[in-house]
Amino acid sequence: MSPRLEDVLEAAREREISREEALFLFREVQEPKQALKLFAAACEVRDREAGRRVKLVGFMVSITPCTVDPPCRYCFRWAAPNLFTTEDLLSEEEIARAAQAIAETGVRRVEIAGGTQADDEGSRVTLRAAAVVKEESGLGVWVNNGPSYPPGAVSALKDIGIEGIACNLETVNPRVFAELRPGDSLAQRMELIRATEEAGLGIDNTLMIGLGESGDGDHPYEDWVDFLFYFKQFRNLRILEIHPFRPIPGSPVADLPAGSPFETAKARAIARLIFRGVDIAGADAVAGVMAGANMIMHAVSVSKRRKTGPGARCGEPVIEDLGGGLVLANYVPAISRHLADLGMELV
Ligand code: SF4
Repeated sequence: MSPRLEDVLEAAREREISREEALFLFREVQEPKQALKLFAAACEVRDREAGRRVKLVGFMVSITPCTVDPPCRYCFRWAAPNLFTTEDLLSEEEIARAAQAIAETGVRRVEIAGGTQADDEGSRVTLRAAAVVKEESGLGVWVNNGPSYPPGAVSALKDIGIEGIACNLETVNPRVFAELRPGDSLAQRMELIRATEEAGLGIDNTLMIGLGESGDGDHPYEDWVDFLFYFKQFRNLRILEIHPFRPIPGSPVADLPAGSPFETAKARAIARLIFRGVDIAGADAVAGVMAGANMIMHAVSVSKRRKTGPGARCGEPVIEDLGGGLVLANYVPAISRHLADLGMELV
């Protein structure tokens, strides 16, 4: 006999849900009335385990170019050929200025990001970038530039004092990964995540909802549950990002449907019931806060572009020219208003 939604959610308020329960919730919750029950349980767990607080993360890009060839089929590189090239790179002096500017906004942590630079230079540049940010600011540092360095370099990053590493998988389905990221390696990324765990550094990872879906047929709920429970083995998982797939114009997947916002909100809520106190990104959207998210990535970003990536979804940034082509996009004022309306504290 199939369990009742109410019973599964009642149990979920008190303990982590199982793989079977997660799959049940993905399948069972198919309309807003059910989703509101799921979200209520997720918010209750978030408020108790992580508090009614939203953590902001700053962003700077690019510390490394991307040498992945061919580029991942959904990458921004298809729309902006200069992206993740030497034109886009921040010098050490620019990284220092970016770190200082981000710290001045009051944000306490930053992700230093770039493409995957698969050569010896990748390690050197990543270590220098992390060290410069540590020297120039009191920010907590997360490194997000793919496997630009071998697992052996993780302990050197730890010695610099970073908080953690993001080496995003986006899917753990080997067929989907190979199809969408033909120039990259799932095994290599997994190896780096394991090295991060072994070094005792924090793990940040991203699940992309809708990646590889054609729009015909059912959502791949099994794949999403596989992803979430793959990360259950790591004690140091600290940040989970769950984002919808966005078809980039000009990319080979430009005609595929965008990831579902409803399924994204469901996935964030189900992740909350699995991971309890782990930081879950997506609180820049009302539906994200309602689904139990407690983190906003890209709350303030510095790049040589006016805007980096999607930014935060709850308003427009204040743009500050940092000189020498560097631009800071500050969403903190918009985020403050958004979170105040939702009764959430900002940290
Ligand atoms: S590794 Fe990242 S930056 Fe490089 S092609 Fe793939 S998605 Fe784009």
